[in-house]
Amino acid sequence: MSEILRVEDLRVYYHLPQGVVKAVDGVSFSLNRGEILGVAGESGSGKSTLALALAGLLRPPAVIESGRIIFNGLDLTRLGEGEWRRLRGRKISMVFQDPSTYLNPVYTSGFQVAEVYEAHRGGRISRYMDLVKDLYRKVKMADPERRVHSYPHQMSGGMKQRVLISMAIAEKPDLIIADEPTSALDVTIQAEIIELLREIRAETGSSIIFITHDLALLLEIADRIMIMYAGKIVELGRSSEIREKPLHPYTRGLLSVLKPERKQKLASIPGSIPSLIDPPKGCRFHPRCPMAMPECSRIEPKTIKVNGRIVSCLLYEG
Ligand code: SF4
Repeated sequence: MSEILRVEDLRVYYHLPQGVVKAVDGVSFSLNRGEILGVAGESGSGKSTLALALAGLLRPPAVIESGRIIFNGLDLTRLGEGEWRRLRGRKISMVFQDPSTYLNPVYTSGFQVAEVYEAHRGGRISRYMDLVKDLYRKVKMADPERRVHSYPHQMSGGMKQRVLISMAIAEKPDLIIADEPTSALDVTIQAEIIELLREIRAETGSSIIFITHDLALLLEIADRIMIMYAGKIVELGRSSEIREKPLHPYTRGLLSVLKPERKQKLASIPGSIPSLIDPPKGCRFHPRCPMAMPECSRIEPKTIKVNGRIVSCLLYEG
């Protein structure tokens, strides 16, 4: 598989009056064409900031301090807003957590999806309504002929998420970034949306970055999983490897709180994500780590390869 995205030592900081929040702090990874990469971690791990950086949607006080995001050979960190407008929706698109926030209540759903075509191809919105109906059939929207004329308040959460997915896939982008796309939905609809994303990948060959706090979900859908903690990648490997033999104590903690038979979240790891203004010295996980050694509070672990997997923990350094 060829590489479509490479992130190199990316740092995204929020400059607040209280101090500098290092939300993404030296993150490097790559993504192959047609691959589903899952990104997991608790709230505050930096995964949503990473998503916004990849989609060119960071706004002040967030700043890309350093690093590169190479997409199809283009460094996205150097693009201006005009270039982003041409790229976003056509080559890279995003599906957000809460569709209600992103749909305009005063326009019909069909109009809003047709706007994606209009933005990239020009012409009148009405010209694209048949394409929108085709998209609605593809995303298994019930009664597409009627639903293109529905306003967001006339649609359920699952329908609205299908509208957002229609927008995201309209121009068959190379990369879809889905940030918690199912967490506002009930379990049945969640399963349907997951299946839909799988079908879209199979049909269009799009790569998908699927971001969630729900590791159980990623074990179902992702080819590889990247675990983030306090702005850093602590482990990255194939889903089967992460499931069968997690290396990092934090990954083990996330897996141990999944109820074995139904893979549902049972409890949480003791403690909480540290302040990213003044994170712990050494390994950022050391105050919560059951395997912490004295040196863990002094030495920051390097990111190393172990059997083809990436891990950041002193237990694996020679
Ligand atoms: Fe735990 Fe130390 Fe490894 Fe950090 S470096 S995860 S504290 S064992």
